[in-house]
Amino acid sequence: MSQGIHSSAAEMHYPGNLFMVVAPSGAGKSSLVNALLAQDAHIRLSVSYTTRAPRPGETDGVQYHFVSVDEFMAARDRGEFLEWAEVHGNYYATSRVWIEQQMAAGTDVLLEIDWQGAQQVHKQFANAVEIFILPPSLTALEERLKKRGQDADNVITRRLLAAGSEMAHAPEADYVIINEVFDTALQQLRGVVEATRLRVDSQRARHTQLFSELGIH
Ligand code: 5GP
Repeated sequence: MSQGIHSSAAEMHYPGNLFMVVAPSGAGKSSLVNALLAQDAHIRLSVSYTTRAPRPGETDGVQYHFVSVDEFMAARDRGEFLEWAEVHGNYYATSRVWIEQQMAAGTDVLLEIDWQGAQQVHKQFANAVEIFILPPSLTALEERLKKRGQDADNVITRRLLAAGSEMAHAPEADYVIINEVFDTALQQLRGVVEATRLRVDSQRARHTQLFSELGIH
C-alpha cells in the first residue's frame, strides 16, 4: 500500500490546540470567553503579564500577572514571552512556558490578546486559530465602553479611537464573530472550538495510537 505524504505531518503539533480571541475594547470579548471557559473544561485561559495598574476588582494572578516595567522587560529579555506588545500605553505579554506545557499535556489554550500579539503567535504556531470578535455597530461599541465606567473619559476616547485601527486587522483572523446576540455569539465560538478539535493534525496528535493502529500516517 502506498503511503501518502501529508505536508503538515512533518510539522510539530501539540495535542492541545491554541486559540486566540482578538477584539477591540467593548466588543464583549471577556464575557464571551468567560462563558466559553465555564462550559468547557478542556480549554484554559492564559493569564497574561501586564504593566497596567489593576482595575477595581482585579486580582494579581487571576485577570493578569501585574508587574512593573522593569520586571516586564527583564522577563522579555530572558525570552520568557511567546509574544508581547504595547497596547494603550501599557505592556502586555503571554508566557511561553505555561502555554507549551498545557498544549503538550493535551489541554487547549485560549489567549485574549491584541492583533500585534496574534501576528507574532501565528508566526510561531501555524496551527493557532484566531477568532476576531466585532461589535454589531459603532454606536453599540461606544455605549458598551461608556457603560463599563471603569476608565476615565480620556481613556474611553483613546480606546474608541484605537478600536478603529484594531478592527482594521479583522481580515487577518481565521474567523469573525459579530457579537449582537450574546448566546448566538457564544454558540458560534463553541462551534469554532469544536471544529478545530476535529482538524486532521489535531486528531492525529491526540489519537496517535489509533492512527497508527489503523495504518494512517
Ligand atoms: P485590558 O487592559 O482592557 O485588559 O486589555 C487591553 C488590550 O490588551 C486588549 O486588547 C487585550 O486583548 C490586550 N492584551 C491583553 N493581554 C495581552 C497579551 O498577553 N498580549 C497582547 N499582545 N495583548 C494583550
